Amino acid sequence: MTRTRETPWRATILTLYPEMFPGPLGVSLSGDALARGEWSLEARNIREHGLGRHRTVDDTPSGGGAGMVLRCDVLGAAIDAAAPPDDPRPRLLMSPRGRPLRQERVRELAEGPGVLVVCGRFEGVDERVIAGRGLEEVSIGDYVLSGGEIAALTLLDACVRLLPGVMGKAESGVEESFEGGLLEYPHYTRPREWEGQAIPDVLSGGNHGAIARWRREQAERITAERRPDLLTRSRS
Ligand code: SAH
Repeated sequence: MTRTRETPWRATILTLYPEMFPGPLGVSLSGDALARGEWSLEARNIREHGLGRHRTVDDTPSGGGAGMVLRCDVLGAAIDAAAPPDDPRPRLLMSPRGRPLRQERVRELAEGPGVLVVCGRFEGVDERVIAGRGLEEVSIGDYVLSGGEIAALTLLDACVRLLPGVMGKAESGVEESFEGGLLEYPHYTRPREWEGQAIPDVLSGGNHGAIARWRREQAERITAERRPDLLTRSRS
């Protein structure tokens, strides 16, 4: 599906805390792009589909144990109200059990029509709604957050900065960490010398071939030192 200015990249978030959105995405490049209509954000409260007078959304875990679980009937109704079955957007569930989010997936998501993102809370969500609504579980790292909202904001930030026209300079998205399978080379700017440390000579020499080679070597060295797993991955 091709996006035009009339159909901006569309994010729908299902959360118990819609007031957390757009939050930090309302400022700077993502906030300006939001104001210009280059992407749209709708945060919907799962509690609108809660049950009874108290709009209950959770219940105790079957089989016992600590914490509460988001009910599948409530979450299912919230998803159905937010996205009809023919909505082409991927349906994501932020979850520490999910596939770790990587730049390739971010790029695919940014090139698509948008995302529907479910934010878990408590112990998580009833397993049946994951299969029942085809949710793709996405993790932002091997640690546990108290809710999916900050994870969703992270995912949205990574996607939105790739949308056409959002980042100032088109090329600044191309040579970054992970693009090309390497971490980025070191950056320098004025002053030429600071606290006894000088900018590497090659960067002031004006030899663009030498600069490109130096940056490539640095990127390979840093990647080998810090993230050898990325090198193995890009070769396979
Ligand atoms: N009991 C769960 C953790 C629940 S944390 C477990 O052990 O797996 C509550 C919610 O925070 C989750 O439902 C999920 O939506 C979100 N969350 C926590 N850590 C996350 C992570 N690393 N990536 C994405 N979402 C996360």
